[in-house]
Amino acid sequence: MKYLSTRGDTTPRGFSDILLEGLAPDGGLYLPTHYPKVDDATLTRWRGLSYADLAFEILSLYIDDIPAADLKALVHRTYTREVFGTVAIVPLRRVEDGVQIEALSNGPTLAFKDMAMQLLGNLFEYELARRGEELNILGATSGDTGSAAEYAMRGKRGVRVFMLSPKGRMSAFQQAQMFSLQDANIHNLSIEGVFDDCQDIVKAVSNDLDFKRRWKIGTVNSINWARLLAQVVYYFAGYCQATKTNAERVSFAVPSGNFGNVCAGHVARMMGLPIHRLVVATNENDVLDEFFRTGTYRVRGTAETHETSSPSMDISKASNFERFVFDLLGRDGARTKALFADAIAKEGGFTLTADEFARVAGFGFVSGRSTHADRLATIRDAWQRCGTMIDTHTADGLKVAREHVDAGVPMIVLETALPAKFAETIREALGREPERPAGLEGIEALPKRFTVLPADTDRVKAYIEAHCV
Ligand SMILES: *Cc1c(COP(=O)(O)O)cnc(C)c1O
Repeated sequence: MKYLSTRGDTTPRGFSDILLEGLAPDGGLYLPTHYPKVDDATLTRWRGLSYADLAFEILSLYIDDIPAADLKALVHRTYTREVFGTVAIVPLRRVEDGVQIEALSNGPTLAFKDMAMQLLGNLFEYELARRGEELNILGATSGDTGSAAEYAMRGKRGVRVFMLSPKGRMSAFQQAQMFSLQDANIHNLSIEGVFDDCQDIVKAVSNDLDFKRRWKIGTVNSINWARLLAQVVYYFAGYCQATKTNAERVSFAVPSGNFGNVCAGHVARMMGLPIHRLVVATNENDVLDEFFRTGTYRVRGTAETHETSSPSMDISKASNFERFVFDLLGRDGARTKALFADAIAKEGGFTLTADEFARVAGFGFVSGRSTHADRLATIRDAWQRCGTMIDTHTADGLKVAREHVDAGVPMIVLETALPAKFAETIREALGREPERPAGLEGIEALPKRFTVLPADTDRVKAYIEAHCV
């Protein structure tokens, strides 16, 4: 399998070539040259597989430059009961007639990002060892992504993580999750500033190409193809659990921000998985809902980006969205470039032609939006009537899912985080504390390992230089 860019660069690259990279050189995102089709007999055979074996089968269709035995060992090391809590890895549970939740958040940081990031940690370690190289991952976080990256990379040979977070602005739980890590290759940098300051420093360091090359700076952001690929697996696993025959279809509802999660659903559907609808659920930051209702994609400014109680969906633009639009436009790289490079830079967005927009329905996408009041009502209803406690992001998913249930088609809502991470809103909705998984009861009291730095790029660079030995 080879990979190309959504903006027209068709230089063929292998999986290992793009694994450690972000954007393609022309500014586009990497996609495989085609989506392998999964036939009926194969899907039937996959029904009997463990999650790790299923992951191996799917990854093998897209990775041909890692020996099969190595890849197999790697996925079996990643998707274990010890790390994800159950043998099923992503078990389904019933909410009400026709609606189920797929648990994707039982990994070490209690959010679905572990599903991909844990694999990425093992892939990075493998590839870096093979090349005899090192990588220093630099990132900014206000919570989920940073902790998932740290838990994936902790103790990995050849990798260091430098994670910037705004001092005093994360929840006590999230701070404890990250700062309690004692691994020598994990560096928590607590920056005296807000999240935007952290992000500006990461950008400034990455734009210093000499520094970047010299100190081998990389990222693990959500546009990484390997992350997206890892997420394709749980759509197949959810489908196999919810159905008995391949004649049945299911719908998935996905709490969405950067469009990475639901884009993996799109890939699964392109491979032939019988998905009826892909329901894109947004919060008050409704860039994506607006697009799927109107055909207009309008990037928001900082002032227009709301801070909500489902913070991991608070986005101003959806960084993976270009991948879907490329497919929607019949893989026309020039048109995709005109929209994402030119129109967004000049006009802050674009509107598809009527013909182009008419094709969206054929890809199964529908959408909806959810507000703070909706989250509270949905969390309360799920707890009191259905007996299940859900987090704020999953509540957005369930709220919008219910607007798109079709008779006879199971609706699967992806659970993207556990309620323990968002205690404040759970208290507001239910008047009680969220359940906390065993082993995490006292993490706020654990010793913390972090360094406070001013919001100053040079000080961060100096820290990196001093700790890359
Ligand atoms: C990252 C995240 C999302 C959004 O996922 P995308 O892939 O960015 O669309 C939703 N919920 C939670 C809890 C997350 O951490």
